Amino acid sequence: MNHIGQDVISDTTKSVSPVIASMGPEKQKTLLRTMNCVGIALHSGEKVSLTLRPAEAYTGIIFRRIDIPGSKEIVASWDNVVDTRMCTTLGSEDGVTISTVEHLMSALAGCGVDNVYVDVNGPEVPVMDGSAQPFVFLIECAGLLEQDAPRRVIEILKPVRVEIGDKMAELIPSDTFSVGFEIDFESEVVAKQEITVTMVNGSFKKEVARARTFGFMHEVEQLRAAGLGLGGSLDNAVIVEGDKVLNEDGLRYDDEFVRHKVLDAVGDLYLAGGVFLGSYKGVRSGHALTNQLLRALFADKSAWRYVDFAEESAVEVAPKEAEVVNLVAATA
Ligand SMILES: [Zn+2]
Repeated sequence: MNHIGQDVISDTTKSVSPVIASMGPEKQKTLLRTMNCVGIALHSGEKVSLTLRPAEAYTGIIFRRIDIPGSKEIVASWDNVVDTRMCTTLGSEDGVTISTVEHLMSALAGCGVDNVYVDVNGPEVPVMDGSAQPFVFLIECAGLLEQDAPRRVIEILKPVRVEIGDKMAELIPSDTFSVGFEIDFESEVVAKQEITVTMVNGSFKKEVARARTFGFMHEVEQLRAAGLGLGGSLDNAVIVEGDKVLNEDGLRYDDEFVRHKVLDAVGDLYLAGGVFLGSYKGVRSGHALTNQLLRALFADKSAWRYVDFAEESAVEVAPKEAEVVNLVAATA
């Protein structure tokens, strides 16, 4: 567990939360240089090119459909989410959309990228290997540039929860950002899995980034029949049939399934437009419920606030304590 004692906080930092004070005024970041990759779109099966370009401080993450000249920019924001079936789809005011943004958003969150233009020449972000790792690699190849502006931190002040049937998603106050998830499937190979990952010290890259999306064979057949998932294959998803994983090389983590749900949640939460100081917990949750959670959060002004860096005082109290990765595996 990561504990930073209240006792390090002096009176001069009243408005600064303990962890923020200990982190010091973290700066916004963009990429050092432009990077490109080409991959397959999961649903159309077509080849698509993705280019990440550096952007000024306070730009945020902006998608641009370069195959539609004159189309408006699509801001990566929770209130621009127009579809959450299968994946997260964002739309601009002129109705142009970009789908399957969540794995890239997750990589940008995990690598701490605040400002970037994402140019795509089709309606979907390429699926790559079904995880966030190829995007992490792309970002690392680009390098990060620190900008002269503080990062936007969203502090959760009171619990906010949304539920649909047996599905639940919530954000609760915490002195770190952590994402916990619980899934429960009938298939023995997936079964009940639970994990909590605290996003510090490279834990995203190590514990989350490589977890691939997954699906069940009967769903794949249904999708194909509906003309969807045409780009899906054992190269970009873990496919389960009955109680068996069909991928020859097996799993990347024993509990890859729940880790992928964490990956998705990190990406969907980054549509909040800042870094959370709070804990997310999802039980059988998904893109739709996480988006509803953000809508519920931002509808309640008493549930959150932007943390203001009181820079000088934060620096004064800024002994950066070694933060410990808190990885709580299944309750077992
Ligand atoms: Zn996913």
